[in-house]
Amino acid sequence: AGASMSVLSRPSRMMLLMNPQSGKGQALTLYNNHIQRMLNEAGVTHTLVITERQNHARELVKEADLSQWDALVIMSGDGLLFEVINGLLERPDWEEAIRTPLGILPSGSGNALAASIHHYSGASPVFSEELLVSCGFLLCQRLVARMDLVSIHVASSPRLFSFLSLAWGFVADVDIESEKYRQVGAARFTIGTLVRLASLHIYKGKLAYLPASSLAPASRPSKDSPLQRTESMPSRSATKGPSDSLLLPLDQPLPSDWVVVQEEDFVLMLAMYQSHLAEDLLAAPGATSDDGFIHLIYVRAGISRTALLKLFLAMEKGAHLTTNCQHLVHTKVRALRLEPHSPKGIITVDGEVVEYGPVQAEVHRGLVGFMPS
Ligand code: ADP
Ligand code: MG
Repeated sequence: AGASMSVLSRPSRMMLLMNPQSGKGQALTLYNNHIQRMLNEAGVTHTLVITERQNHARELVKEADLSQWDALVIMSGDGLLFEVINGLLERPDWEEAIRTPLGILPSGSGNALAASIHHYSGASPVFSEELLVSCGFLLCQRLVARMDLVSIHVASSPRLFSFLSLAWGFVADVDIESEKYRQVGAARFTIGTLVRLASLHIYKGKLAYLPASSLAPASRPSKDSPLQRTESMPSRSATKGPSDSLLLPLDQPLPSDWVVVQEEDFVLMLAMYQSHLAEDLLAAPGATSDDGFIHLIYVRAGISRTALLKLFLAMEKGAHLTTNCQHLVHTKVRALRLEPHSPKGIITVDGEVVEYGPVQAEVHRGLVGFMPS
């Protein structure tokens, strides 16, 4: 990302948005113990804004005077960042708004983006409070890199933007079922995986994608020129957010150059655009922040419980892709479409539940500025 890196001026003014309920409910204590003094000593002027409910942050950034802030920093898990990104892209001035650098200070139970950013820095893995401190130090350096976003279409809700993952099957079920173990922090995913393994399901559906190799690499939007607009897939909200040039409407057949996966019985489908699915799950070891790829992983039905458990254990070090598991497929794509056949189920975007049913996605390279980097 070196070519597209920039540095915020000193001193800098940041809005720090916090979800006090995130993780074990100790975000404010973590801020007082680890973050406040660090930012002050680094000359980062910041205003702490504590959210009162879900979607509060989304509404705040939708209305905010962004000229007052050099960056918006999220202290929470991935869920609050999801709100902020979508709030920015719902603004009439989304093209300007999405250039506001965003930052993350992990205090949630799902801190996948923070773990990814720490991983890109080349440092060896750390967890929980050490990960928070690492991200705090990186934030103080004020380096801004680019990060891909993925637009997500479902049948009847407005389009969403995603920075991390789209999941269906085993991973989505674990993510949502494990919410009830929030009090154990990041360990909730391990517990959830073991519980789900005991009642392993098969998920039926049709999966198709546009291979990354079929196109010239997506170009990054340049910092100064407006984002390119194409007309093939206007968004429902007409003018907000970049248009999706690779997608046809969900009720129309797939474009002819897409690959349709032959199998229709799956254990999981996971589309990743950053390296980590959780603090200790390196699901897409080859991913970088703005490579312009969706890293698509799916596991076909027929895998044994033991083999699936081995995959998740190997994922802690990112070794699952080299275990020669016959049921695991991974490939890089620019866009995908999933049509689940079963009437009920869970689909998650960045760990949040979205409308269940047909879903499609397209990557937008380097759409958002991100720090720490
Ligand atoms: P965690 O990693 O602990 O799940 P998140 O940042 O993902 O933390 O937040 C969990 C959920 O809480 C998200 O859906 C987010 O939108 C929502 N949320 C944000 N602010 C608040 C708040 N003040 N009270 C309750 N829920 C909130
Ligand atoms: Mg979360």
